Amino acid sequence: MVKTMTEDRVFNFSAGPSVLPEAVLQRARAEMMNVRGSGMSVMEMSHRSPAFIEIFTEAKEKLRSSLRVPESHEILFLQGGATLQFAAIPMNLMEEKTADYAVTGNFSAKAAKEAEKYGTVHIACDTSGSGHNRIPTQDELSLTPGAQYFYYCANNTVYGTEWPYVPESGAPLVCDMSSDILSRPVDVSRFGLIYAGAQKNMAPAGLTVVIIDRTLAGRERPFTPQIMSYETMIRQDSMLNTPPCWCIYMLSLVLDWLQEQGGVEGMEQLKKARAGRLYAYLDESRLFHAHALPGSRSDMNVTFRTGDADLDAAFIRFAASRGLVNLKGHKIAGGMRASLYNAMPMEGVEALIETMKEFEKNHV
Ligand SMILES: *Cc1c(COP(=O)(O)O)cnc(C)c1O
Repeated sequence: MVKTMTEDRVFNFSAGPSVLPEAVLQRARAEMMNVRGSGMSVMEMSHRSPAFIEIFTEAKEKLRSSLRVPESHEILFLQGGATLQFAAIPMNLMEEKTADYAVTGNFSAKAAKEAEKYGTVHIACDTSGSGHNRIPTQDELSLTPGAQYFYYCANNTVYGTEWPYVPESGAPLVCDMSSDILSRPVDVSRFGLIYAGAQKNMAPAGLTVVIIDRTLAGRERPFTPQIMSYETMIRQDSMLNTPPCWCIYMLSLVLDWLQEQGGVEGMEQLKKARAGRLYAYLDESRLFHAHALPGSRSDMNVTFRTGDADLDAAFIRFAASRGLVNLKGHKIAGGMRASLYNAMPMEGVEALIETMKEFEKNHV
């Protein structure tokens, strides 16, 4: 076992739900039975109680300052995962017209398919022909004049590619940032809507963060459920019904931790260092090969393989025996995937590279 974490914890490379900062888990444990002198756990609190409203308001303010969300944009704490947003976005923003979708992985493909129920989807690009191993250039995007919005997924969790630029489109940008939110600074003012399931880089599963330009709300189709209406949720401050209280509290603790680590700038440095190390090794390895092409590679989800499915499986078992777990790639992509989210310490990447080197030595 490679053990540099406390309490017999492993290095968890899961794509999601995924590793949380150990300091955050410790603090949640310390506050489990009695948070802020309330005599109860956050899990037991009314969402309308002053104690919880304080936690809620702080979480929102910390997210606003961490990501520098301008006042023009509202922050919503919703449920239903990123997947519910595949439908909520067209229901709220499409108005039966045409929206452009960049398909660079499975999640953007699913989002495009869902949107087809509510209007015309124009596929601005589709990288499935090359196994989604690259991100198209701006010039390769086919844009519809007057499109309702341009949709893309900033980081393709399954295939391990990440947009190295923010696309230009005359239409509002709508972006799925589920697996790279808070990993780098973002100019939020350039986006109409940003959303992210929390369970990759922010908090436990059950919370979806939506950041929306206020002027885009209030255009939902008449059949849109209240719970999926951005306008309603803005007016109700995400409390039309019970919000995911525990997850919001955990997000607040994660944001405190993030601030201590130098905020999103600190996270960006760290992610470049972590992924840079791993890709450098992959590019010189005689056994392992990166899936994504240089220039399109994700810092968050590093996908790689040996080219032999049995050898991949043997490596995954070998790594697990060393305390490096959840390295199996998504079933539609195969191979291996090391998810290097904010909470993955550099030691985890070093331990992984050491383990890969050792395996390589015995298998080439
Ligand atoms: C995990 C993920 C999703 C799906 O999230 P759910 O919360 O399970 O619906 C969508 N998009 C991206 C980029 C993801 O990583």
